Formats: sequence, structure tokens, C-alpha cells
Amino acid sequence: MNRSEQAFADAQQVLPGGVNSPVRAFNGVGGTPVFMQKAAGAHVIDIDGKPYIDYVLSWGPMILGHAHPQVISAVQAACVDGLSFGAPTERETQLAQLICSLMPNIEKVRLVNSGTEATMTALRLARGITGRNKIIKFEGCYHGHVDSLLVKAGSGALTLGVPTSPGISSTLAAETLALPYNDSAAVCDAFQHYGEQIAAIMVEPVAGNMNLVVPDREFLQTLRDCCDQHGSLLIFDEVMTGFRVSQQGAQGFFNIRPDLTCLGKVVGGGMPLGAVGGSATLMNHLAPAGPVYQAGTLSGNPIATMAGLTTLQLIRDLDFYPTLIARSTKLLAGLQHAADDAGVAFTTQQAGSMFGIFFSAQKSIRSFSDVMACDVSRFKTFFHSMLRQGVYLAPSAFEAGFMSIMHDDTIIEQTLAAARQAFAEQ
Ligand code: PLP
Repeated sequence: MNRSEQAFADAQQVLPGGVNSPVRAFNGVGGTPVFMQKAAGAHVIDIDGKPYIDYVLSWGPMILGHAHPQVISAVQAACVDGLSFGAPTERETQLAQLICSLMPNIEKVRLVNSGTEATMTALRLARGITGRNKIIKFEGCYHGHVDSLLVKAGSGALTLGVPTSPGISSTLAAETLALPYNDSAAVCDAFQHYGEQIAAIMVEPVAGNMNLVVPDREFLQTLRDCCDQHGSLLIFDEVMTGFRVSQQGAQGFFNIRPDLTCLGKVVGGGMPLGAVGGSATLMNHLAPAGPVYQAGTLSGNPIATMAGLTTLQLIRDLDFYPTLIARSTKLLAGLQHAADDAGVAFTTQQAGSMFGIFFSAQKSIRSFSDVMACDVSRFKTFFHSMLRQGVYLAPSAFEAGFMSIMHDDTIIEQTLAAARQAFAEQ
């Protein structure tokens, strides 16, 4: 028994399923989850001391690579000054100013503790502002474990085969219309039937929780148009895509204006921090400026805001995104080449520094049903071969992959060497 197997056995005694977030349990690929002890740059290191090239990156946040020296020293310095005050700090304003300057459609933000809190808050705000209850979401999109949004969800929910969870009030679930992603006609149809009752559309503007599905720009434009015509709000859940698809997120990449934006992951630089943002007019509906209640003991925590602030300052560097995106493209081209050489039906999709790999002969994967048609058993074999060779991919065929700026040419070559071997084992 290696140390991870022992650690997992111990964990299962005191944690449901041995983990604190379902997808970590390796149910999607089988076998024992690898327990980590530390990380640096492009690598995570397990409790047996084995290093892995990491394409999970804490599910997205670590865009600068792990334990970036400037982020770590800023956080260390902040810790010395105290861990939490529960009173305003100037750093919260500085982080808010930076978010507003980078994201095209944010004038004011509310800082929260996670992506889930961000989407929950955005939804309450939309319902509070419009006085309506119904929302539209899309099959295979995951917006955290908010009751109203855990209907036909992706990510861990999909891996477990329970896209809609027990424990969600049926009256609440009935207010959520789940439509097929990338299907403009279905959206227009839903507005024809329920237009006056729809508070908001919540969408991942690039879907990263059913592997990686890039929308047609026309689909996102339809969402904008329908919301404008019917007085509904368009919410972009950019928890994953924010500062990932481009410096301005997916809204900058596609040049589509959401009313509200949810942020998480990169914005906290690896610490628990999320944000909701939008125009000053909309955001001023939040308490204490307005009547829609939202609060948090640890919101705007000084350590989390320091990690976020330092991370966002570093990604403002002009060369950052071109380099990061070029490396992502290089990795995917190499993987495709290796699969073709091995005669394995395989395709890849990319949005900035997020990517998807699919065991499928289909060249364009556009929807939840396309993703479901991919060969999951081939993914599992590939995953375990890569893991043995020291490459840590997301332990599920339904998760996106992430690049950091520390994934340089050498790391990419090492990954491709492992992939050639893994494809040969298919
Ligand atoms: N929204 C999206 C698009 C996500 O990918 C996630 C998490 O993966 C969330 C919301 C929830 O964020 P958190 O896990 O920080 O609560």
C-alpha cells in the first residue's frame, strides 16, 4: 500500500467519501486519489514525494503556477498583520479597482468567499431586481452547488451521474429551465413561453464543466438579445473563464456584455475568494446600498485579497496572455499529433488557457450530448497511464484542463513524451 492508499483509507473514516469535494475521489476514473503535500511551478508533489506535471492547477486558479514567489511573499507579509478583521480594509478597494479596470462590464463588485457564493449572490440579485423567479441555465453547465443551479449540472455532479441532486426543493427546481447549450432556438422558444417570468439567464460563456465546449458567438448574442427584449438579466458565470480565456475573460474575448459577472478561482490566486460585479446601478441593489441582502464574516479577507491582488497585478504584464495561450496551443497540437500517429480517434478544443481533450472521431464537440458520446473508457486508460508517468490530468472525462505560465517548452515536451506512450497503450 502506498501512502496515498493509506491516507485515503484513513480519510474515508472521517470524511464522506474520503474527500471534501466529490470529483477529488477519482470516481470518474477509478483507483485511489493521489494525496498531495506541496506544489511548485508546474508541479504538484504527492505524499510519497512523486512529482507530477499539473494540468488541474487547483481546478484553475493557479495561472501563475504553484507557489509563485511574489504571491507567497505578499501573503506571508499579510499574515503577519493578522488573519481577519471583519472590518473594511483598503486592500479590498484596491482589488475591486483592479477587477473593474480589467473586466469590461464591471463598475462595482462584491467580494465573497467562493464561486458558489458568487453565483448564489448574482441569482438573488437578479431575482430581487426583476421581481421574477424563473431562471434559464444550460445542460452540463456547473455554477457551484447553489440549489437553483444544481439542476442538470456538469462537473462532479456529472461524474457521479447525478446531475440533479436530491435535497433540492422541487418548487425551486421547477423555477429552473435547463436548455441545451449552443441552441439559440431553444432559448428563443423558452422566452416565448415564459418571457415575462424569467429573471435571468445564467451561463458559462465557455462551458468548462462538461469538458470544454466553446459557444458560437451567435449563441451568446442571442442570450443578450432575448434578455434585452424581455427585461431579464444576463449573468456570465466567469468563475472559470475570468482571467483565463483572456485577460478580460470570455466577455472580452467574445465582446458580449453581460449584466452581471461572477468571478472565482484566478481572482483569489488560490485562496477562497469570489466576486460578483456589474454596473453601479445594478450592484447598488445589494445591501447596505440596496435591499437585496448578502453578507459574510470572512468576505474580503485580508489574506485572500492579498493573494488575488498580487496575482492580478502579475497577469497585467503585456506578454502574459500571448505566451500562455501560445503554449496551450502548442500542447494541444502536440497531443493531436501523437494521437494521430497512434491511430487513436481524438480531438482537442481550446479557449485561451483552458482546454478539453476528447476521445472521439467527431472534430467539433458543441453540446452536452456530443460530450456524452465520447469514449470515457479510453479516457480512463489514458488518464492512468499519464498519472503513472507523472502527469496529473483532471480525474474525469468531464473536466477542462488548465495551463499556467510555468508550463514551458520543456514541461510540454515531457507531457508529450508521456502522451505518446499513453496513446500507444490504448
Ligand atoms: N462556476 C463555475 C463555472 C465553476 O467552474 C465553479 C467551480 O468549479 C463554480 C462556479 C463554483 O465555484 P466554487 O467551487 O469556488 O464554489
